[in-house]
Amino acid sequence: MKKDEKIPNQSQSQPGKQSKMHPKPEIIRKNYKGSEKLKGKIALITGGDSGIGRSVAVHFAREGAKIAIVYLEENKDAKTTKKLVEAEGSKCIIIAGDLKDADFCKKAVSQCVSEFGGLNIVVNNAAMQFAKDSFSEIDDAQLTETFETNIYSYFRITRAALNHLNEGDCIINTSSVTAYRGSDHLIDYSSTKGAIVSFTRSLSKNLASKKIRVNGIAPGPIWTPLIPATLNNVSDFGRDTPLGRPGQPSELGPAYVFLACEDSSYVTGQFIHVNGGEVVGG
Ligand code: NAD
Ligand code: MG
Repeated sequence: MKKDEKIPNQSQSQPGKQSKMHPKPEIIRKNYKGSEKLKGKIALITGGDSGIGRSVAVHFAREGAKIAIVYLEENKDAKTTKKLVEAEGSKCIIIAGDLKDADFCKKAVSQCVSEFGGLNIVVNNAAMQFAKDSFSEIDDAQLTETFETNIYSYFRITRAALNHLNEGDCIINTSSVTAYRGSDHLIDYSSTKGAIVSFTRSLSKNLASKKIRVNGIAPGPIWTPLIPATLNNVSDFGRDTPLGRPGQPSELGPAYVFLACEDSSYVTGQFIHVNGGEVVGG
């Protein structure tokens, strides 16, 4: 997306559908060359049907990984991701269900393991957000939904996955720039994203002796279905970043590849800030 390109206004309900977005997000750059960095690996990606998760799925597939994606209900988007992964010469299973349900988290991991025979890379990436201008509008129902989706699911998927991860395997968690700079209208959401930062740092220490690395990505404004599904006006989305534009999912995928592969073998407990130039701590 160019610096001055205006996004036409549009709105959807959650979960947003990539198939209904215009312009279409870029998933992977045409000139991205895979080099077998993830050959033979098996990756499970929550929220892998669309947006950042879809980009991660396609990049991982181009690098040789087999993919299991977990998503809420967006069957059309999930089937598209499956086709894109298969077009890379890889395999993809799609698993629909609600990650707020602890049993489903277990089932999603076992389905991946029984289909592919193991698990090496977990990408915790699913989320919801409900913008509220007034703090008092954040009721308990919203609090529960936001925390169960955005952080409890990361604990539950990880707990199930750890029965299968071994030395050299890794976990990557999607946080947000809002964890670092705060957000006046996404207080509960940004709180879960802050929890993901501490979760990542703490878990990395806990798993270091097993040589399982745990890192994260903190995206800035990225053109994904979450945006038209949750913001009233998207036409100026991302323009307030130093680079003056929103990011594309294609600009995230390579950072996940780095954290998933051996290139980052001496990196754990860290975040990469793919956010258009906002300088944040940590
Ligand atoms: P997205 O809508 O494409 O992805 C989010 C996915 O989460 C959805 O596809 C949906 O299937 C899944 N999901 C939500 N609730 C679920 C549930 N209860 N059970 C199962 N799956 C569920 O949007 P995205 O922007 O690609 O989001 C991916 C991650 O990036 C999220 O963690 C989000 O917080 C983070 N992020 C996005 C931005 C941005 O500007 N787009 C900025 C910072 C962080
Ligand atoms: Mg989706």
